[in-house]
Amino acid sequence: MAFVITQPCIGEKAAECVDVCPVDCIAEGEDQYFIDPDICIDCGACQAVCPVEAIYHEEELEEEDMAFLEKARKFYSE
Ligand code: SF4
Ligand code: SF4
Repeated sequence: MAFVITQPCIGEKAAECVDVCPVDCIAEGEDQYFIDPDICIDCGACQAVCPVEAIYHEEELEEEDMAFLEKARKFYSE
């Protein structure tokens, strides 16, 4: 299980989330930031600081946001 960064992050990229992650598993991609789903420890710290509410636990993702989990997996598999 992991937290996932979704649509509102695109173009926003303020990166508050990166500073608070205790396991340093958030990285900058081309159009948004990504959480490494294999390293995230589900602490929720990033979700609390994101100014645009782009971060959700994967169990709380809306159907249309599931693609962002796949996008993150792809980002970290390259
Ligand atoms: S804090 Fe939110 S908007 Fe900013 S980089 Fe992180 S996920 Fe994206
Ligand atoms: S939930 Fe915690 S461990 Fe996972 S990305 Fe956010 S700050 Fe990092």
